[in-house]
Amino acid sequence: MDTRISGKTRLLGVFGTPIKHSGSPVMYNFCFNYYGLDCAYLAFDCDESQVKDSLAAMRRLNMRGANVTMPCKQEVARNMDQLSPAAKFVGAVNTIVNDNGVLTGHITDGMGVVLDLQDHGKTIVDKNVVLLGAGGAATAIMVQCALDGAKSMTVFNRGEEGLAKAREIGDKMMADGVSCKMEFHLLSETELLHDVIRKADVLINATSVGMSPKHEGKSLVTDMTVFHEDLVVYDVIYNPLVTKLMSDALANGCKEENVIGGKGMLLWQGAGAFKLYSGLDMPAQELKEFLAKREAEGIDPLQDLSLIHISE
Ligand code: NAP
Repeated sequence: MDTRISGKTRLLGVFGTPIKHSGSPVMYNFCFNYYGLDCAYLAFDCDESQVKDSLAAMRRLNMRGANVTMPCKQEVARNMDQLSPAAKFVGAVNTIVNDNGVLTGHITDGMGVVLDLQDHGKTIVDKNVVLLGAGGAATAIMVQCALDGAKSMTVFNRGEEGLAKAREIGDKMMADGVSCKMEFHLLSETELLHDVIRKADVLINATSVGMSPKHEGKSLVTDMTVFHEDLVVYDVIYNPLVTKLMSDALANGCKEENVIGGKGMLLWQGAGAFKLYSGLDMPAQELKEFLAKREAEGIDPLQDLSLIHISE
């Protein structure tokens, strides 16, 4: 029996479905334990039609907070008392903080990339960023990079529909005074894509191209001359750990320390949420060691940590 649980223990959790696979309880309970915080974290199966009831339960039970995963992120955003700037622009929430009955929705998915880059000694501040994709992950990354001080974001997407949605968000941000210069293009403009990457500081792939099993061995960047030694290449994909985009970058002039896979993104978006709940830094190093130990015991920590919907 867990000796941490008392009459004063604050409850936190994750809402979504399917949810049994979620490793969020392992990650957050490890952090509560580490700091000796009187909190406990559980996973709750919840679909969109149950969001309003779940939020009422959060207030009624005085839960400190909750993470939100698919398919509830947009519906939760529609039912918050207030939204962080990033959550407002993205229109989705993955972290709810309850301050005396006032529920504030945040999104830390994009923070996951920005903090992971920082963990690798890289910054997006004042940088020209090229972003591939305009889906859920890409939109969150685009908004966070723009809010956190990227100089420019050039977004490329396969389909017009996703691109139009991203453009609408970008236009709103620029109209609201966010200083990042944002441009939107179709991936079919291949020559422009390669030209922009050549001049970029950071290239982020936030599409599923490269992911195992369906898209493994594929990359949207087909001109090997675009890679240069100052380019930082970040791929949100973590299965495989080294994607074709990453191996192409490494083989064509990018420095090893500048080529980063998406493994840390899950951990760092969790760190963003943990800070919002507790005001404390996630014990990242200790958590990494704990997860490595679990991995050595045959438990897949990445699978465990899937806070968010992963499309294949
Ligand atoms: P999503 O909302 O479904 O978006 C998918 C994106 O990929 C869209 O921009 C889509 O373009 C693009 N795409 C898919 N197939 C493509 C193809 N054959 N050619 C060109 N573009 C293609 O999914 P998501 O949730 O954003 O996830 C995207 C990727 O990020 C997934 O691989 C997921 O595993 C990964 N991810 C990683 C983390 C992490 O923690 N490391 C977190 C979240 C997501 P269209 O608009 O044209 O369909």
